Order: sequence, then C-alpha cells, then structure tokens
Amino acid sequence: MKVVTTITEMQSEINRQKELGKSIGFVPTMGFLHEGHLTLMKKARQENDIVVISIFVNPIQFGPGEDYETYPRDFERDLELAQGEKIDYLFHPSVEEMYPHSSTVKVVVQERTDVLCGKSRPGHFDGVATILTKLFTIMMPTRAYFGKKDAQQVAVVEGLISDFHFPIQLVPVDIVREEDGLAKSSRNVKLLHDERKQATALYRSLQIARETIENGERNPINVIQLIERHIKDETSGIVDYIEVYSYPSLNRLEKIKGSIIIALAVKFSRVRLIDNVMMDVN
Ligand code: AMP
Repeated sequence: MKVVTTITEMQSEINRQKELGKSIGFVPTMGFLHEGHLTLMKKARQENDIVVISIFVNPIQFGPGEDYETYPRDFERDLELAQGEKIDYLFHPSVEEMYPHSSTVKVVVQERTDVLCGKSRPGHFDGVATILTKLFTIMMPTRAYFGKKDAQQVAVVEGLISDFHFPIQLVPVDIVREEDGLAKSSRNVKLLHDERKQATALYRSLQIARETIENGERNPINVIQLIERHIKDETSGIVDYIEVYSYPSLNRLEKIKGSIIIALAVKFSRVRLIDNVMMDVN
C-alpha cells in the first residue's frame, strides 16, 4: 500500500493505472476506521483492480460549533487496518493540500437537503459535495463506495454523479452494526459508558417501527411517535429528528407506501448519532 499526500502524485499514480486499463474502486472516509469502513473496502477489493481510499476530515462539511476539532483521529491505527485490507493507495492530504486558498467555486446542493441532516446541519452537504467533486476529479474512479448509514449522503451523491456526468458507478453498502445493533460509527467512542448502553435503543426503535409498518401501520405520524416514545423512555438523549420519507427522493409522506426510509438523529452529551432503516412497502 502506498501512502500519498499530494494531489499531483495521486493524479500521476491514477493516470498510470488508467493507462494500464485498470478499474479503480474508491472509498472516501474521514478515518478512525471501523468495520463499516472495512466492509466498503472489502467490496471495493472484490470488484476492482485497484483500490484507493482517502482519509481526510473535511473542515468545510462541519458547521460552527460542530465537532471538527474533536473528531476522532488515529492515523497509525488506520494505516494498519487499511494494510490488512490490501488497499493499493491511501490518500491522506493535509487541509492546505485540499484547500490551498479561499475557494473560488463551491458546489451547492439544491435538492434533498432541506430535510434530515441537511436541515440540522446547514451547509453540510455543500461541503460534502465540494470535497467529493475534488476527490472524484483526482481519482477518476470506476466505482465509488458509500455506506447506507449516511443515507442522505448516498442520495446527494447520486444527484452529484448524475448532474455532473461523472462516469462513476455509485455502490451503496448496507449498514454494519455492533452485535447489540448499534450502527458502527467513528463517533461511538464519544459516548459515555451509560449512553453506550442506552444507544442500542436507536436501532431497536427503528426495528419496532419496521415491525409496526409490516403489521399494517401506514400513518407516518404514528410511526414517528412510537419511535420517539421508545427513545425518550430508554435513553437520556435528545431527539434531533425522526422522519419517515420516500427514498431516495426524500419527500414527506402522507401515507407510508413505496420505497421509504425511517431515519433518526439523537444527541447525547458529547455526540450526535444517526441511524436508519429502509424498506419497500406495498
Ligand atoms: P466517514 O468516515 O464516517 O465519513 O464514513 C466513510 C464511509 O463509510 C461513508 O460512506 C459512510 O457511510 C460509511 N460508513 C460509516 N459507518 C458505516 C457503517 N456502520 N456501515 C456501513 N458504512 C458505514
């Protein structure tokens, strides 16, 4: 595995591989790798000649007062984990490398951002779309891998790839969970001891919601209230949002039908967690 820190070197490596006719699988991450990231890498390894991952905590997707400074980082550990997955290139640029001067252009996401995390984190998806536009242009990947844990991100990336005609296949990957159901996340280490135990209620509440819909409930308000009650009873967290939307269009539903997402965000004392389930409803 080659660690690359400059855009020029990364581009020349990619050009070399492209000239050899190699397919390229790309996994963008913010590091502090866990089983969720490794699952994306394994899938990329199976499906491509060359696998590139990036580790970059992107400052412009964090809002004021969010956790950019305290976002967990451990590059040495990440290196070992990436090596274990037989990654070809690990791109690890500095902030100055990615943003050498104040931006003349940024990518603004127009749709699918006035809900869920986009509503709670204004400007977040503009930051995501801007860094991904840069990374896609550098890597020119054949396929790019994204976790469904960040379901709204998958929807936004689908729009970005389609609108900007990137010749990239988007590969969404299922959520990887801890044994007790908690969705794996770099931020889970910021949960206090008691909160970690309580956090299982997030997925549990989503499962209860899914079962209720399977048993015939079609009113989104009832489903949302059911989840809210469960989370309030079982955790000390504060609900940021609980929503039932169409997926991937992310429109509000009068009646639960078709391809849907049930998504939530809950704030604990030092960390905000998100989770979701998707289902097809007749
Ligand atoms: P992050 O480092 O949090 O930006 O995540 C990098 C990629 O890994 C994103 O596409 C995430 O959706 C994905 N990812 C993070 N956690 C999980 C998980 N528990 N299961 C599946 N994918 C995940």
